[in-house]
Amino acid sequence: MIVEQIWTANAYRNFNYLIACPETGEAMAVDPLDAKKCLAAAREHGWDITQILNTHEHGDHTGGNRAMISATHAQLLAHKNAGSAIPGMDRGLGAGDIIKIGKTVEMEVLDTPGHTMSHVCLLSHTDTPALFSGDTLFNAGAGNCHNGGHPNELYLTFANQLAKLPDNTQIYPGHDYIANNLGFTLDREPDNARAKQLLDKVRDQNPNRALVSTLALEKEINSFFRLHSPTIISRLRQSFADLPENPDPKLVFLKLRELRNSW
Ligand SMILES: [Zn+2]
Ligand SMILES: [Zn+2]
Repeated sequence: MIVEQIWTANAYRNFNYLIACPETGEAMAVDPLDAKKCLAAAREHGWDITQILNTHEHGDHTGGNRAMISATHAQLLAHKNAGSAIPGMDRGLGAGDIIKIGKTVEMEVLDTPGHTMSHVCLLSHTDTPALFSGDTLFNAGAGNCHNGGHPNELYLTFANQLAKLPDNTQIYPGHDYIANNLGFTLDREPDNARAKQLLDKVRDQNPNRALVSTLALEKEINSFFRLHSPTIISRLRQSFADLPENPDPKLVFLKLRELRNSW
């Protein structure tokens, strides 16, 4: 499997992706908002884009579909319940479905509601797993729930699916928000030395060569995986006086999500 991360340099800081089979050169484009850049990258590598996947229905993920399909005649894949919001869908996806790319690449579909209720993440079946996490999981952050999502479901997705993936899973999110999100981590957990060190490293990084994190790293620097941190809990109790001394992780997640909305 070859992964090409494409920085769109737009105001929303979207990342687009090409995932290719090294044997056949067939490729899938993930959320190819910047169709021009995605097509140019495929041309440069000699890849043939045969599938397009939208992680979810928001315009900054689907906005390139029309241009991509007219240039490549690729099949369009998205969550099975996204059909009314994503015109021209060819294949509706559900949990556990397998997407094949060329001869060598297999991607497993995870049904990951929360940011929207029709959101999929893709997990590669490779020696080192890779997760294409759309707007569900960001580096050092979690998706918001303002546009069709629900924080309860987002918590369940994190706790029951994402947190259980192998620690060496590489994380490929839908946006470059790492520096801003690490600011939130440090606001919630000022004693998080790893987050501080990482922020120094990525603050001025070139998004064309962005750091690719792992789930193990996220568990160190992403507040939404750190629901048992004593610092996070005691800081939350300063903001929410009714929070118990030993709150359950779901409550911690929901309070963090709430604070992040206005941070
Ligand atoms: Zn979104
Ligand atoms: Zn987005």
